[in-house]
Amino acid sequence: SLTTTLTLSNETEIPAIGLGVYKVEAGDEVYQAVRSAIEIGYRHIDTASLYGNEEGVGKAIKDSGIPREKIFVTTKVWNDEQGFEETKTAINRSLDRLGMDYVDLYLIHWPVPGKFTDTWKALEAIYQEGKAKAIGVSNFLPHHLKELFKEAKTKPMVNQIELHPQLQQEETRTFCQEHGILVEAWAPLGKASYFDHPVLQELAKKHEKTPAQIIVRWQYQSGIITIPKSIHKHRQEENVNIFDFELSDEDMAKMAGMNEEKRIGKHPDEFD
Ligand code: NAD
Repeated sequence: SLTTTLTLSNETEIPAIGLGVYKVEAGDEVYQAVRSAIEIGYRHIDTASLYGNEEGVGKAIKDSGIPREKIFVTTKVWNDEQGFEETKTAINRSLDRLGMDYVDLYLIHWPVPGKFTDTWKALEAIYQEGKAKAIGVSNFLPHHLKELFKEAKTKPMVNQIELHPQLQQEETRTFCQEHGILVEAWAPLGKASYFDHPVLQELAKKHEKTPAQIIVRWQYQSGIITIPKSIHKHRQEENVNIFDFELSDEDMAKMAGMNEEKRIGKHPDEFD
């Protein structure tokens, strides 16, 4: 169910499916999207300083009537907030906007060269202070993680990366698994850009589900945290109505065959 969790290396529980709110407008749009998701049963929201909508996320959670500790909240430090001192003030700004005294997970949004190690040291301090119950990274390739490990006291608990059927990220997934880092998928639906793919169409027909549901189920069965985004209640419901069917080994093999290592977003060595 929507309360199914995976366990991070520090024993924190993270709901396997959450709601992403990238490009959801600050104010009423994000407020309504988070309220409706929580009504459906979502207990995990993924935002970021960059998204500009933390305030609406926090207000929706507060007004939901669900106790703060029952909802898993992730936010991220943006590229222009990185560095040791900078990040220690960035978390305070995010917490102020969210109206919270801690987040469940704080992530380094992108591996800014020359900065991410100092940023990580700030995350370790933030974790020690209890302002984040877990800490992690996003868009880190194995080479970034290896560099981080040289000076890190704590390993990241999560790596949030672009991951969908056409970009399966085998190498990064294997590396993360070897180091006890849970992988989280961003753009998990491939931004709905290839729902007409024959494999998705075939499996959707077979299971009487939609392509979005086939993809979310595939991630769920793969032990990957997933955060599909929709502001519409009927799609929010659709995206998590995946607990009444199972993909067979043969279905999973077909999904594996969809991989093209094709990115929609930026490559982690080429962002700016
Ligand atoms: P996504 O793959 O979740 O696709 C979302 C889009 O798909 C929606 O805008 C909507 O147009 C469409 N959609 C959703 N459900 C649908 C359905 N059932 N049927 C038809 N269309 C549907 O893409 P995303 O929003 O980019 O990624 C999800 C979340 O990941 C973001 O909201 C954000 O929280 C996170 N993210 C993180 C990073 C990062 O660098 N860490 C980057 C991008 C996104």
